[in-house]
Amino acid sequence: MDLELRPLAIPGIEDKRPLIIAGPCSAETEEQVISTAKELSSVGIRIFRAGIWKPRTKPGGFEGIGAQGLAWMNEVKEETGMLAATEVATAKHVEQALKEGIDLLWIGARTTANPFAVQEVADALKGVDIPVLVKNPVNPDLELWIGALERLNVAGIRRLGAIHRGFTAYEKVIFRNLPMWHIPIELMRRIPQLPIICDPSHMGGSRELVAPLSQQAMDLGFYGLMIESHCAPDKAWSDAKQQVTPDVLSFILDKLVIRNTGETTESLRELRKQIDELDDRMIELLSKRMRISREIACYKREHSMAVVQTGRYDEILNKRGAQGALCGMSGAFMRSIFETIHEESVRQQIELINKQ
Ligand code: PEP
Ligand code: MN
Repeated sequence: MDLELRPLAIPGIEDKRPLIIAGPCSAETEEQVISTAKELSSVGIRIFRAGIWKPRTKPGGFEGIGAQGLAWMNEVKEETGMLAATEVATAKHVEQALKEGIDLLWIGARTTANPFAVQEVADALKGVDIPVLVKNPVNPDLELWIGALERLNVAGIRRLGAIHRGFTAYEKVIFRNLPMWHIPIELMRRIPQLPIICDPSHMGGSRELVAPLSQQAMDLGFYGLMIESHCAPDKAWSDAKQQVTPDVLSFILDKLVIRNTGETTESLRELRKQIDELDDRMIELLSKRMRISREIACYKREHSMAVVQTGRYDEILNKRGAQGALCGMSGAFMRSIFETIHEESVRQQIELINKQ
């Protein structure tokens, strides 16, 4: 289905990249919430995030302070004029968050992975006009992510956005959650008017990765960033390793280079025209190559030869891999191109040989 969307239009927030949402992983105490918010506000942050209900992989951890934290969020709004955002996972969360005047909701990665839970949240939001951001599901499944956006849209939520926070990795890698950028990029292609925000904190899982991942997200044209920030990160009750102080956050944001995504200049159009012409020629050449490959198939058929001669295949991969490297491309890239070409060539030869 096509999503029916309106801009996020968050009151008092300019519709301009990058949209910044920042705040602690969890609301812990009144003092921690208020002092973090004040520090964030003083460096120009306008949207404050804090988890009130925390989904944890295992029981026994800090599962969120619960509804009492909503009163602290309200205090933040009153004292700083910031807007408040929190995660909801059940109808009860939605009801309590709305009652306490939360301005923006997000659906967490574990919840997005569960259509029953998303539907429950969507049903609870019927008739409400509030911006909702949907984090990607923990598993790399674009359809599941889009499905969650659709459920909310069907329920009447028009101000939707997505948050890319990376995907669970089975093995330990430098990222806590793998970026797999091609997935959100495909989401941008499929739903161009949907704002997509990056969460470098949960993606990287460590302070050092927040800045480079934020820059990468900006370079890829993401609409904004959601970053975890805590007044005393080392003492945080959840996700301590990935939270930064408001000061560090401000430093990271100041250093970000924001490039234009929109307008296409004349010289860019000219360069793209050249690329298009080269692509046309490449396709023509490939089609010629396939024609000759089919002639070879006829020869092989007449002489009862097998379709694949591994020696020849090996020779092509090695020779073209090395040649690619000499021409300023990676050898592995060139090999993979020729592997793909060879695969199609073999498919066509087999089809022809079996035809008679
Ligand atoms: C969070 O934002 O604190 C959170 C729990 O994130 P995620 O759902 O991406 O794991
Ligand atoms: Mn967190």
